[in-house]
Amino acid sequence: MDISLVIPLLNEEESLPELTAWIARVMSEHGFIYEILFVDDGSKDKSWKIIESLAATNVSVKGIKFRRNYGKSAALNMGFAAAAGDVVITMDADLQDSPDEIPELYRMIKNDGFDLVSGWKKKRYDPISKTLPTKFFNWSARRMSGIRLHDFNCGLKAYKNDVVKSVEVYGEMHRYIPILSKWAGFKNIGEKVVQHQKRKYGRTKYGLDRFYKGYLDLLSITFTTRFGKRPMHFFGSWGTLIFLSGFVIAGYLAYEKFFLQTFKMTDRPLFYFGLLAMILGTQLFVGGFLGELISRNSFDRNNYIIEKKLGI
Ligand code: UDP
Ligand code: MG
Repeated sequence: MDISLVIPLLNEEESLPELTAWIARVMSEHGFIYEILFVDDGSKDKSWKIIESLAATNVSVKGIKFRRNYGKSAALNMGFAAAAGDVVITMDADLQDSPDEIPELYRMIKNDGFDLVSGWKKKRYDPISKTLPTKFFNWSARRMSGIRLHDFNCGLKAYKNDVVKSVEVYGEMHRYIPILSKWAGFKNIGEKVVQHQKRKYGRTKYGLDRFYKGYLDLLSITFTTRFGKRPMHFFGSWGTLIFLSGFVIAGYLAYEKFFLQTFKMTDRPLFYFGLLAMILGTQLFVGGFLGELISRNSFDRNNYIIEKKLGI
């Protein structure tokens, strides 16, 4: 199989037939052997019915339906697990991404040796309330990760099959797949300018909360990739350091009190500082220890309930 298209969707009934026909046309023009993996992220409209009827006439159409809405990351994660193609391409279902980009993305992975190629919506057809925060967001993701991409969150991306089997996407992590890939050891990351369209049907599934959630996720992936498997290195070292500084302060104050007998210990601001440092240090240390225990008994966060499957 040459290409697996992974398409997460939530209430996109109007777009699906048009999108499928367009993909089928591009694929047959280039003679690709392909599959379309629709991951229905708990749609309440007729999306799943439409996927079933599309599958009836096109054997390449497959589907997975979540029982409820888990989010785009969960849908991608599920699609990645099922993808069998040498090259895996993700795209949005709302016709904002163009299937005409597929052959060139495929070529860049196959012939140019990229592990991942991200689309770049250089000219966007979205309101400024979205494009402006996005610019800032991409800037900080670039600074943090050292990956020179203009558009981290572009829905249109292509991957070597190995890459999607090696990264775990949950929460709202789909924005950071290039960062997760780099940290998984796939460093050859490319970019391609892609066409972007206005949303033709339906409306966006995200509000303004995407921005602060996006930032919290950026912090948590930075933290979890560095310390997720060894929390004690972070909490333990800071905890010990802070506790020791508090201990030294307390020792010094005790020395003054008993040997120099200058004044009452509690009159000095330093006393409270020392006390606070010892308490805080102990807390951090205990926190690190608990984190260590939890990460050793790692739990399964990708436990999604599937209602139906088609062709998989
Ligand atoms: N989507 C999804 N689950 C969600 C939210 C969105 O599968 O919880 C899908 C949605 O149907 C679309 C893609 O993710 O195919 C991108 O969403 P949208 O177009 O609303 O985002 P925008 O283009 O406004 O950034
Ligand atoms: Mg969209």
